[in-house]
Amino acid sequence: MNLRCQSCGAELVVAEGLRTTVCPYCAAPSVVERPPSLDRPAPTFALGFALTHQVAGERVKHWLRTRNPWCHSGLKRASLQDVRGVYVPAYLYSARADSHYSVSIGENYTETETYTTTENGKTVTKTRTVTKTEWRPLRGEHAEYVPDVLVTASRGLSNPELEQLEPFDLRVLARYEPALVAGWVAEEPSLSRDECLRQAREEALARVARRLESFMPGDSHRELRHDTRLEEESLDVCLVPVWVLAARYAPDKPPLRVVVNGQSGEVFGKVPISWVKVLLTVLGVVALGLLVYVLLGQGGRS
Ligand SMILES: [Zn+2]
Repeated sequence: MNLRCQSCGAELVVAEGLRTTVCPYCAAPSVVERPPSLDRPAPTFALGFALTHQVAGERVKHWLRTRNPWCHSGLKRASLQDVRGVYVPAYLYSARADSHYSVSIGENYTETETYTTTENGKTVTKTRTVTKTEWRPLRGEHAEYVPDVLVTASRGLSNPELEQLEPFDLRVLARYEPALVAGWVAEEPSLSRDECLRQAREEALARVARRLESFMPGDSHRELRHDTRLEEESLDVCLVPVWVLAARYAPDKPPLRVVVNGQSGEVFGKVPISWVKVLLTVLGVVALGLLVYVLLGQGGRS
């Protein structure tokens, strides 16, 4: 059965028995039936769930208990609702990257300089060692294979969220078979292939840039520029396992959405900050500052 969330745009595929009226991503009760989409690329690969519903719940409870002190105090006692395993569509990208780069390489050297200073009323001449840097231009070529760039293809789970859940263990990547997702909620790619390809290329280029940074010679470098061509690109739909939970932490607040890597148990959610706590702390620090100021002031006068 094919469903669409009218709130976040996720396009779900579920078995008849799993008919749901609530979106697993955003918990909006605006899921409607839609005709099957024929032009969507079928998944090539899939990663199975390695974590049970109970273990995912335990991870989230631990995560909620260990958030920063500014967060809403209800989080520690939050109740977990709507725990759902979702096969989230992502694109797995790889390419060969051929780069030309130019950079300025700095080599340090030391010099002894003489200087004059005044000691006991007399002018004396002394020497000291200073470190200086000589810059020279460098050009070069670099080729590498950039494997396993993962970007979301889902409107329900954003790319920054997916990045927080990464890495997934791609050594256990399997060919997609419908039997693998039977009984689970799966989503079809709801972002366009072009959009995902652009995102994947951006991530690949960022990786190349970090690599180039890491192997520059010299003591330091600056103005590293690279012109990189991506060749032999591959882009395949891969379903990744994610647990999505709603943590209800206050009766007057919407539940916090928490996502868990279905393989590694890595947890991510946008923790609500308690502005009351922040304000009280700021006021406390100001009050303490004033107290210290007043005490010191009195000490000075007596
Ligand atoms: Zn939704």
